[in-house]
Amino acid sequence: CGIVGFIGQGSVQETLVEGLQKLEYRGYDSAGIFVLNDPNDGYLVKQAGRIKELREAVDFDKPAKVGIGHTRWATHGEANVTNAHPHLSQDNRYALVHNGVIENFKEIKEEDLAGVQFKTQTDTEVVVALIAKYAQEGLSTIEAFHKALKRIEGSYAFVLIDEADPETLYTAKNKSPMLVGLGQDFNVVASDAMATIQLTHDYLEIKDKEVVIVTQDKVIIEDQDGKQVDRAPFKAEIDA
Ligand code: GLU
Repeated sequence: CGIVGFIGQGSVQETLVEGLQKLEYRGYDSAGIFVLNDPNDGYLVKQAGRIKELREAVDFDKPAKVGIGHTRWATHGEANVTNAHPHLSQDNRYALVHNGVIENFKEIKEEDLAGVQFKTQTDTEVVVALIAKYAQEGLSTIEAFHKALKRIEGSYAFVLIDEADPETLYTAKNKSPMLVGLGQDFNVVASDAMATIQLTHDYLEIKDKEVVIVTQDKVIIEDQDGKQVDRAPFKAEIDA
């Protein structure tokens, strides 16, 4: 029910857990984070409980350049630690968080992902599996993400990390909220500016079905066809 992502200079785990704590009021049944410092050194922590317990389980001293955090309000699959996000692809290359519902996940499982052994009961896991499949077929991560978004139907706010590339975060939305927050030496993404308002007041709106590529010092917005879109930031005024 809430998402926070961070890339750049700063305490990644602290920003994620604190951000999730700010979103607790929205309700949730489980929570998790995934952070990365070097290629393929991903660190995943999930809890089927309170953010307080997540905080106790997280190693805050582990170096990290990029990370994603999620609070889940289960729609498909019971509320347990396995079904908590982030979800990893079968080959462990991709980590994904999702708010929303993938309406055609059963159809995608049967038609596109027949050979895949799913680890969870969620609708979300098909999306990370699709992205991994398209990447295995030779697409770049951004191409694979665009292609997966064309295949899925439903509501979503996604944040994606490619374990091969600690310098980049990807996000997209459709009928679920998601914003990009702009900082000095970092950028953030969040489903609600409440989660990150202590870090920045400058935000970029994302339109449905756009894909956003976020690095420490750059934000690139692409429309559905991969064409770059210009957008001016706005000031978020929230007392926090
Ligand atoms: N549909 C997804 C799930 O059940 C995401 C739920 C949410 O929005 O937190 O895992």
